[in-house]
Amino acid sequence: MESVIIIGSGPAAYAAALSAAEIRPVLFEGTIVGDIGPGGQLTTTTDVDNYPGFPHGIQGPVLMENMKNQAIKRGVRIISETVTSVSKENEIFKVKVDEKEYVSRTIIIGTGASAKRLYVPGTREGEYWQKGISACAVCDGFFFSGLDVAVIGGGDSAMEETQYLSNIAKKVYLIHRRNEFRARADKLEKIKNTKNVEIITPAELVSAHGDDFLKYLKLKNNETNEIFELKVDGLFFGIGHNPNTSFLNGLVELDDLGYIVTDKYGHTNLSGCFACGDVQDHIYRQAVTAAASGCIVGNEALKYINSKNE
Ligand code: NAP
Repeated sequence: MESVIIIGSGPAAYAAALSAAEIRPVLFEGTIVGDIGPGGQLTTTTDVDNYPGFPHGIQGPVLMENMKNQAIKRGVRIISETVTSVSKENEIFKVKVDEKEYVSRTIIIGTGASAKRLYVPGTREGEYWQKGISACAVCDGFFFSGLDVAVIGGGDSAMEETQYLSNIAKKVYLIHRRNEFRARADKLEKIKNTKNVEIITPAELVSAHGDDFLKYLKLKNNETNEIFELKVDGLFFGIGHNPNTSFLNGLVELDDLGYIVTDKYGHTNLSGCFACGDVQDHIYRQAVTAAASGCIVGNEALKYINSKNE
């Protein structure tokens, strides 16, 4: 019987593990959660410039490697498997991993969120998904060196994808469905000042076309309804994220968007079950806020275990 099982391997999960280290957490880092492997979304980003303690910023993958090493040093047991379901019976959590079952007195869910995709003709598996279409510039951008690509979205993710791709591709079209952007003003300004970026608004994707690989998009001008073609070799979605909660099968309360509902200390509606990071926060979604919420739930799990031992 474990005291605490942590599901996830981003900053929230690792911060929870470090805070609860004295009760020797087991952490399932997952193989693939959503479209992403162990370490979560930070493994698909580049510079993290607002994580305290790094005056020159730090690369996302390096930050995650450091967190994992720190957890190992503190005695956290990391299992490289993906949890398929969780249930609770008689105050005990049962955590299933394929055929195996682990039992624990508490669980912490820090499974994060995955990039959203658009499903229009041409964008699905078996069409141009991964044959020119991706949702991760850092993972797939190098395929498009010297080519023309498009990014869809108007938030910070889209700005970061566009900025990243502008250093690799010949030309980057940033396509957004409205004329107003929700991205941070400084990020948008930087994009506007990047020579090889052209902003196309208000426009939305109608379909994707090509031969073996993507060759062009059909877009609709949202003011005039005119359909026009844009020749690109690559297309990246930067349109937000979905929380990774499907494996929970109704175990805890979710909000309308599918995020886990918690109080401000990460308690779910199920006693002994805590959640932290992007799986319960669709607003801030920063490494630093995820780590902070992980720190809180790690301490809450510790308090829970100690109170049951009294
Ligand atoms: P977001 O802010 O929700 O932006 C998503 C964008 O995609 C919006 O512009 C939205 O358009 C567009 N979009 C959504 N669905 C669409 C659809 N079906 N078709 C076309 N366009 C669609 O998501 P995000 O950019 O991932 O950012 C989420 C949060 O993470 C924010 O709080 C952001 O600040 C934070 N974040 C921070 C950083 C950083 O600081 N380094 C980096 C990334 C993200 P509308 O505007 O029309 O709704």
